[in-house]
Amino acid sequence: MKKKDQERIKRTEQSSQPPTGDGDHAEIHEAVAEPPVGPPGGRDRRFRHTNLPPGFVERRKRPLIKTEPPPPAPPPRMEDYAAIIGMPELDEIRFLARHLQGKTVKMVNSTAVGGGVAEILNRLVPLMNELEVPTKWDVITGGNDFYEVTKGFHNALHGGEFNLTDQIMDIFNSYNEQNRQRMEFAEDLFVIHDPQPAGLVRSKSDTRGRWIWRCHIDLSNPHPGVWDFLKPMVEQYDATIFSSPAFTRQLSVPQYLFYPSIDPLSEKNKELEESYIDKVCDDFGIDRSRPILTQISRFDRLKDPVGVIEAYKLVKKYVDCQLVLAGGGATDDPEGAVVLQEVMDAAGDDPDVIILNLPPWSALEINALQRASTIIIQKSLKEGFGLTVTEGLWKEKPVVAGAVGGIPNQIIHKLTGILVHSVEGCAYQIRYLLTHPEFATQLGKNGREHAKENFLITVNLKRWLILFQILLGMVRPHKTV
Ligand code: UDP
Repeated sequence: MKKKDQERIKRTEQSSQPPTGDGDHAEIHEAVAEPPVGPPGGRDRRFRHTNLPPGFVERRKRPLIKTEPPPPAPPPRMEDYAAIIGMPELDEIRFLARHLQGKTVKMVNSTAVGGGVAEILNRLVPLMNELEVPTKWDVITGGNDFYEVTKGFHNALHGGEFNLTDQIMDIFNSYNEQNRQRMEFAEDLFVIHDPQPAGLVRSKSDTRGRWIWRCHIDLSNPHPGVWDFLKPMVEQYDATIFSSPAFTRQLSVPQYLFYPSIDPLSEKNKELEESYIDKVCDDFGIDRSRPILTQISRFDRLKDPVGVIEAYKLVKKYVDCQLVLAGGGATDDPEGAVVLQEVMDAAGDDPDVIILNLPPWSALEINALQRASTIIIQKSLKEGFGLTVTEGLWKEKPVVAGAVGGIPNQIIHKLTGILVHSVEGCAYQIRYLLTHPEFATQLGKNGREHAKENFLITVNLKRWLILFQILLGMVRPHKTV
């Protein structure tokens, strides 16, 4: 890794507040008629009062209409996926499910809304029920003290500092115990997601079911004390599941690999009319007749938005292009606002750098921005799995991304996308793709196939059905990680 990149990571690690994804976004939407400062480039754009950095230019021509989340779209049904994965694949899923009909499943996590796990369960649970594998989704409850502890655990398991005291362990154990007493465990299979409810496994000996711990986080470099506390719980499960081989730890129980997945029928990923994509670009002042480079990411230094601007500037010396940096959460996350300011400073008054601070319910707009892009960038310095990469691959885009976290599972260098390790490398590859459109197109096609084979919700569903059969002794395991 280059020195500049190391410095960026260091700056992030020094900052005290980890970014959060939730909070009150209402302030973003107070549209006002008069701009507080003149927009760069003298273009006619609207401004809003926000607690965003002074000088943040709201690119949208019309004020936001959606000031709160739209009602959720009705969940797709199994048959809706036939057009995407084909009938034989759908039949295979139905065949696998038939063997499990009547077997009951309970999924447990710590939040019903917000975050990737809730998003996945929202889709997965109705599909399993439609397949006549009765699946319940329970959410554990806890006070603020519990969520402070589990947030601390989350950061510590990602390698952060943590002072694990007896009191903290008591808080974790007592809320797990309260939930355990409140809940019933009558199903055949229990899937407990992430560390927060991990202690429910104490009920295992009172049940006839099989217990699975689904870990969505990267455990490769955990705080030793916190991991020593959790490990004995984890090792009581019949099986564990991780999102990447790189995220696992040595365990005495079997481990399975389940990649995270995206739903091709969700607002974020479904096909869109060209006219809608045109409208979104027009609203944001993006010119579709020139190349568009896009990075969609929270304003977080680990996503390296400033590095992306530096790479863009190197490219721009040779090839005309625009850069779209779209993120969210900068109003309620103090660090996000600071990073947004850094991004704006780095962009200067270049009208071809389009910085967008989007509310959390912008799935359709993000979909349109990704589809309008010539190249998708995800120049992360550290990453979880990197769902924005999956989304880009699925949309048949050439993706240029940092070789960190789960990204190398998705991008096979020069086959399904491009892996980069520095600003200069990123610039070089972008320039190459812009000047070799046939190669870029081929990468996009391969990327979509790779995503279809590995990272769609239907693939994930199939894995669950197979694992359930393994754990219930109906089939023999083929492979573990
Ligand atoms: N995303 C979003 N709005 C934003 C920025 C990101 O909806 O302003 C979405 C993005 O499309 C992706 C997810 O949030 O689905 C980010 O997941 P990823 O694994 O890439 O990164 P994370 O934010 O979890 O580190």
